[in-house]
Amino acid sequence: MSVRETTSKVWFVGAGPGDPELLTVKGQRLIAEAGAILFAGSLVSEAATKWAGPDCEIQDSKGMDLDAINDWLISRARRHACVVRLQTGDPGLYGALIEMVQPLDEAGIEIGVVPGVSSAMASAAAGVESMTLPEVTQTVILTRVEGRTPMPEGESLAELARHHCTLCLFLSITLLKKVQSELYAAGWSEDAPVLVVHKASWPGEERVVRTTLADLRERCRAEKINSQAMIIVSPTLGARQWPQLKKSKLYDKTFSHRFRKADKTGEAVS
Ligand code: SAH
Repeated sequence: MSVRETTSKVWFVGAGPGDPELLTVKGQRLIAEAGAILFAGSLVSEAATKWAGPDCEIQDSKGMDLDAINDWLISRARRHACVVRLQTGDPGLYGALIEMVQPLDEAGIEIGVVPGVSSAMASAAAGVESMTLPEVTQTVILTRVEGRTPMPEGESLAELARHHCTLCLFLSITLLKKVQSELYAAGWSEDAPVLVVHKASWPGEERVVRTTLADLRERCRAEKINSQAMIIVSPTLGARQWPQLKKSKLYDKTFSHRFRKADKTGEAVS
């Protein structure tokens, strides 16, 4: 076994939601060091090519099935010290991560995962929304409606949505009828606010649509949004305009914590 074989590593790198500047510093360094990069579709091609070295082999995995991807990663790991599998958003969310890790484990190839900015976070940022607000909701559910991949028991949107917390719906933009009916079944009202973000963070291409549950389908049809979109349904949406916002304890004058003590008059003494 050569020295190279014993030291090679395949990195699963989160490329972020689209804007190449939302790649992490570590992800950028690994791309620059990589001898080979396999990227997942058009979403992340720019990040791959922007920082890769001149001799780096760059391949789109668009037309490859799982076996072909695994063979590619294993063969490149035998040739290069650093191989990068670049994925949209965060690799641990709807990214088939474990299916790609297991064959590498079996082949005895070391792997690492670098988290990425998920499109859920980038979409909230695009709308200047907070997914949690004091006394409104303190919980976020990242989920999808059932498509070809079945939902495990207890995880239908109708069941999860009963919490009336923030819901970030991946992979659901073509299933809006289902989104509506399941949210109604969970007690959400027709005028519940919904944020749809198409191509969150993509320079010049991002679109932010604000609508209601009742108008969701119509608005998306009118805006021709039918792919690469995040749907956020939350009681926090639009809070930027609320006159009576409940403030968090974190910056409250009368609230002491590890780094700041409230004085007796209620003035913060930091
Ligand atoms: N791992 C990715 C999700 C991959 S699943 C992440 O963490 O973001 C693909 C789904 O993610 C799409 O159907 C869409 O719902 C969402 N998505 C990915 N990139 C997006 C973007 N730039 N803007 C809005 N939604 C996006």
